[in-house]
Amino acid sequence: MKDFDVILAGGGLVGAAAAVGLARAGYQVAVIEAAARRANHQPSYDDRTLVVNAASLNILSGLGLLPAGLARMPVREIRITRAGGFGSLCLKSEQYQREFFGAVIVARELGNVVLDALKACPGVTELCPATLETFTVESDHVRVRLGDGTLIRSRLLIGSDGTHSMVRQSAGIESDHHDYGQSAMIFNVRPGNAPAGVAWERFTPRGPLALLPQPEGRLGVVWIDRNEAIDESMSWSDDQLIARLEARFGPSLGGFSQPGRRARYPLLRQRTPRPVAERIAVIGNAANSVHPVSAQGFNLGLRDAASLIETLAGRSDPGDPEALDAYARSRYPDQEATVRYTDTLARAFTNPSLLARFGAGLGLAAHAALPGLSRRLVRSAMGFRDPVTRLARGGS
Ligand SMILES: Cc1cc2nc3c(=O)[nH]c(=O)nc-3n(C[C@H](O)[C@H](O)[C@H](O)COP(=O)(O)OP(=O)(O)OC[C@H]3O[C@@H](n4cnc5c(N)ncnc54)[C@H](O)[C@@H]3O)c2cc1C
Repeated sequence: MKDFDVILAGGGLVGAAAAVGLARAGYQVAVIEAAARRANHQPSYDDRTLVVNAASLNILSGLGLLPAGLARMPVREIRITRAGGFGSLCLKSEQYQREFFGAVIVARELGNVVLDALKACPGVTELCPATLETFTVESDHVRVRLGDGTLIRSRLLIGSDGTHSMVRQSAGIESDHHDYGQSAMIFNVRPGNAPAGVAWERFTPRGPLALLPQPEGRLGVVWIDRNEAIDESMSWSDDQLIARLEARFGPSLGGFSQPGRRARYPLLRQRTPRPVAERIAVIGNAANSVHPVSAQGFNLGLRDAASLIETLAGRSDPGDPEALDAYARSRYPDQEATVRYTDTLARAFTNPSLLARFGAGLGLAAHAALPGLSRRLVRSAMGFRDPVTRLARGGS
């Protein structure tokens, strides 16, 4: 039976980034990934346009996962508006002494960089395509059985296996779960005339709509609505889609054309207050999945990875219960605040109650009027929630 220091179940964006960092910290790491490399069904590496915030850009750079050749569009301005209600907000990075808030990166392109880094990393063994079938925790190691019957062992098993994490469930790690009854439809379009470096978020009673700058002047659209409405939207012709987008967003960008391929995602919230058990930790979506309304899911997962790498670096036993406890305690405030903030935003602007919608408008207006409030919002949105890891601050 082959022995490793750490086994990661799930080589999506978060698991693969964590594997690179743990291998660079000196551990022998195995990554079990169910989807074949660059397979079209690889769930983490698709056409999603990810807003990667400033802290995450620092983490990626510290892990060597942000090469100059990776296309990224800096976000220098965020305009938030509300259909049919008062309250709007315009945030400019220069007002916060920042060159940009973050950058938009296509998940597939980041995925290719991460996969190349995994391949080049001497301490990483990739088991792919392979699935983690079962595991048993023994006093000083975890024994893992793969789908083809192969047995491997490690001192620590990390579940980076996504929202429906088998590792989290089998380890009995408690979590709560909420189905928003909404889905996100993504595609990209060419705008008539959109200023560079601006991201838009428009709250509508049906759900939020985000337009994110992409290379070559296109915009990535994240369109959120009730599940039944998205079922219908997926079958619209391109002309119908453009007409509905123009109606929903308004005329300010001079109309839209050339819509790309559409994909849809059901939206769930997953919250795991204590993401560890004996010789087990869960990270990324396997621990906490959030509504994409404030573009935080991958950013939050990457901060899990950075914190775990820093907590475990230099230890003789990466599954040491004290280290796992320190990891869980240090991540709690950020995970809790990010899940709660995202959930509040997702519910407030789509709540049918007039009072809730009035409150949401008031919140936006207050952020616009009070610099201290928006400064706090911006710092959190950029991923600098305490305790900030060394990697997130820009260390290597
Ligand atoms: C429409 C949309 C837009 C978004 N936009 C943003 C954004 O702008 N910014 C942001 O920060 N976040 C965003 N997110 C969230 C972000 O995409 C996710 O949080 C992130 O991709 C999660 O990565 P992960 O690696 O934790 O999980 P996943 O991507 O789910 O990866 C899990 C991996 O585990 C593998 N796996 C599962 N079970 C097993 C098993 N038993 N054995 C082996 N392998 C297994 C799967 O094949 C998969 O590769 C968005 C999400 C959506 C839906």
